[in-house]
Amino acid sequence: MDEALDCLSCGACCRTGTDGRILIPPEDLVRWRAIGRNDIAEAVQPGHFGMLGFATRDDGSCVHLGTAASANACRIYEIRGTTCRDFERGSEQCLEFRKDAGF
Ligand code: SF4
Ligand code: SF4
Repeated sequence: MDEALDCLSCGACCRTGTDGRILIPPEDLVRWRAIGRNDIAEAVQPGHFGMLGFATRDDGSCVHLGTAASANACRIYEIRGTTCRDFERGSEQCLEFRKDAGF
């Protein structure tokens, strides 16, 4: 992991577009429902590969992106999706998202 990259001044991987690219495996839905967060389980949209993805705003950002403290912080960080958890800062895809976002 590249410690030099600051996610809170970036947020590019949480702004991937409106076409359901941040996928949600079924076990995430089970996990959120088990802790009483049906609201998260329901804030989904059809995603790639026939899966579900996080719903997005018109600007392509995930509906869970942005807190009072930071526009690039995740509001459900502690219980975020598996895809979000597994996404590696500094990975090829991270650098690609950053480049597309103009960093
Ligand atoms: S694109 Fe990379 S640096 Fe930017 S928020 Fe995502 S993981 Fe962090
Ligand atoms: S759930 Fe959080 S970490 Fe995952 S895409 Fe949305 S804002 Fe980003």
